[in-house]
Amino acid sequence: MTITNPAAPAPADKPSLPTYDDVTTAAWRIADVAHRTPVLTSRTADERTGAKLFFKAENLQRGGAFKFRGAYNAIARLPDDAKRRGVVAFSSGNHAQAIAYAGQLQNVPTVIIMPKDAPAMKVAATKGYGGEVVLYDRYSEDREEIGRRLSAERGLTLIPPYDHEDVIAGQGTATKELIEEVGPLDMLLVCVGGGGLLAGSALAARALSPACRIYGVEPEAGNDAQQSFRTGAIVRIPVPVTIADGAQTTYIGQKTFPIIRALVNDMVTVSDSMLVDTMRFFAERMKIVVEPTGCLAAAAALHGIVPCKGKRVGVIISGGNVDPKAFAGFLAGTHP
Ligand SMILES: *Cc1c(COP(=O)(O)O)cnc(C)c1O
Repeated sequence: MTITNPAAPAPADKPSLPTYDDVTTAAWRIADVAHRTPVLTSRTADERTGAKLFFKAENLQRGGAFKFRGAYNAIARLPDDAKRRGVVAFSSGNHAQAIAYAGQLQNVPTVIIMPKDAPAMKVAATKGYGGEVVLYDRYSEDREEIGRRLSAERGLTLIPPYDHEDVIAGQGTATKELIEEVGPLDMLLVCVGGGGLLAGSALAARALSPACRIYGVEPEAGNDAQQSFRTGAIVRIPVPVTIADGAQTTYIGQKTFPIIRALVNDMVTVSDSMLVDTMRFFAERMKIVVEPTGCLAAAAALHGIVPCKGKRVGVIISGGNVDPKAFAGFLAGTHP
């Protein structure tokens, strides 16, 4: 198969971008450590949409989200001396947890910069994996600046949550597994924060199922990626107020954006109440715990935002890390 990356080769002044080849080498690199997560189906979901939905359950991935794929791949690619000094990461939660976990498995020290208001469970899990946690105020401090300072002071390698070739390539392995397991898809729905998962997924879907229509799904309150996609330039927005805490990014990445612009068909948004409804659907009907952000892609299908009648549709469930109390509140309708 010939695989073209429309964004490559990169001119000297442009960031170099990953290709599908990088997704395949990432798949090989993480094969023995990452879970090959199950693909779930639901007759109720199919009846509700008139489609055949294939849910890739990354809520059951190690660390509870797809982020383990990119984190492990990025750490594995570091030279030995960089591994010895360690890595630093900033994240609203799941990337942090994934870096700490992937670092522990590869004997690489990790420092994690997390917002003070991150879910307590995520902070605790990160520490549990051996990560050193540094807290910051996301409304007044710049996490990237803190990351740069720590990496300069301690010789740590900064691994960003989405705007990194090895991270994007690692995230693409979930869709590679999905299509290899169920065959070609008519449509693929993927949530978007900074776009690492969507960019990686798009590389895999375009290569393995070229006719597949690819959609990014964002929270209504924070549609910066949709605006960027439409205008052709990266749009920055204030921190959006949404229960989808994994998609509260304020701008899409410089590496993820060109891939998304070239390979993705459209960007759509869903409301927080649709996310709550979807969370309840997953719990009641499919017996799985999915965090609000993890419901974005499924909500677009279940609420008819992307019409998918008669189609074979891949849906990435991105993660399941939700505080049990908050989860109970969402199901009972008393939270937020
Ligand atoms: C990080 C994350 C996202 C967003 O991923 P990006 O690569 O930043 O677009 C979505 N869902 C969950 C559960 C996440 O942890």
